[in-house]
Amino acid sequence: MSLETLPDKFKPYTRQSISQARQWQWMAPELREAVQVVSHVLPFRTNAYVMDHLIDWAKVPDDPIYRLTFPHKDMLPAHEYEHLRDLVLGGGDAKALAATVQAIRMRMNPHPAGQLTHNVPQLNGEPLRGLQHKYRETVLFFPSSGQTCHAYCTFCFRWPQFAGMDGDLKFDARDTDQLVAYLKAHPDVTDVLITGGDPLIMNTRSFEQIIDALLVPELGHIQNIRVGTKSVAYWPQRFVTDKDADDLLRVFERVVKSGKNMAVMGHYNHAAELRPEIAQRAVKRIVGTGATLRMQGPLIRHINEDPNSWAELWTTGVKLGAIPYYMFVERDTGPSEYFALPLARAHEVFQQAYSQVSGLARTVRGPSMSAFPGKVAIDGVVTINGEKLFALQFLQARNPEWVRKPFFAKYVPHATWLDQLQPAFGQSKFFFESDEQLHARVIPIKQARHAAAPQLVTGT
Ligand code: SF4
Repeated sequence: MSLETLPDKFKPYTRQSISQARQWQWMAPELREAVQVVSHVLPFRTNAYVMDHLIDWAKVPDDPIYRLTFPHKDMLPAHEYEHLRDLVLGGGDAKALAATVQAIRMRMNPHPAGQLTHNVPQLNGEPLRGLQHKYRETVLFFPSSGQTCHAYCTFCFRWPQFAGMDGDLKFDARDTDQLVAYLKAHPDVTDVLITGGDPLIMNTRSFEQIIDALLVPELGHIQNIRVGTKSVAYWPQRFVTDKDADDLLRVFERVVKSGKNMAVMGHYNHAAELRPEIAQRAVKRIVGTGATLRMQGPLIRHINEDPNSWAELWTTGVKLGAIPYYMFVERDTGPSEYFALPLARAHEVFQQAYSQVSGLARTVRGPSMSAFPGKVAIDGVVTINGEKLFALQFLQARNPEWVRKPFFAKYVPHATWLDQLQPAFGQSKFFFESDEQLHARVIPIKQARHAAAPQLVTGT
């Protein structure tokens, strides 16, 4: 694909406009119906680059990028789908439709891992909207103008951000004042992750204002500025041909020249996203500024179960100068039954992909669950004293002392998340469930999963 044949003007498609895409006519009626119905619950957005250059339409509906960006009928239980379809296509009761949509969304665990209840920091007794502080050294910042994406992934754990849910459920910060004040008060924080959505949907001028705020002398303790982005895959033009692409790269260079690390956390889900020439050029241009580009993404049923796809992705990335970083386990939110793979299978896929790549690509970690207590990796399946077990460890944790302490859980073949596991060796709790020091912040993982939901359901 030469650069000349690519769109250089961004063209989004939503539920309201997708019928204008020429490919809409290529889709079977039941696929079109599913998009119209399910997108009332889960946000849908894609763009002309994804449609024209990433989806292989000869393979639809099984093409992985099609699966990744289009809603599907089996993301909802049959009875929910039928009820919703009747309301949507019946064109009748708007109130009943809104109530049904809200009820389905709340069932889908919209803010997993205590995002609302335990990660929101405070300053002078006031909760800070638009910030999260889960791990000691890292603060997440959600700028309001970055709370959308170039396209939406159907499994996205930030889907409530895009779905127009109740404003109280949304993280967004209108300016950097509170961020800077909080960071000044927390000299142990070394990393800021600017995230969304996709902060690089912002124009460079707006993005630069955030960076400028982080480069002030009083924030000398901030060593790493990270930006999470899917642009590398869904709109690589952001780094190559957009009118302010060069300006963005200059901003990255400025961070590097200031002595801080500029880390682009590139969200990739499939090898197909890094095959186009422009996507490869984007990587080279980013790393050419002195910034680092780390590759991360979740393992998702129907999309990237093939270990060869991961191996190709990491190998191509390393060749271009990127660093494979994380394979995540799909989170317990949204249509998770549709996307989840058993932990045992996740480990197999990771191991098979990892074993076929160069040592330089083995910087990747996983498969890792971003769970309530921290990021838990499945290291393997072992047998000890005749008992089959999962070997696990924290890669990151609410309590830094938990990190890299091996622990074991009974092997459960169909378990898909940490809260479905039991401790091994007859213990009644995992070691991190009884930490008295963190009593105020940590609750048992089975409660944590649902901690956000009950108090939020009241409005429905
Ligand atoms: S790129 Fe990330 S934040 Fe954006 S829709 Fe996909 S998963 Fe969600």
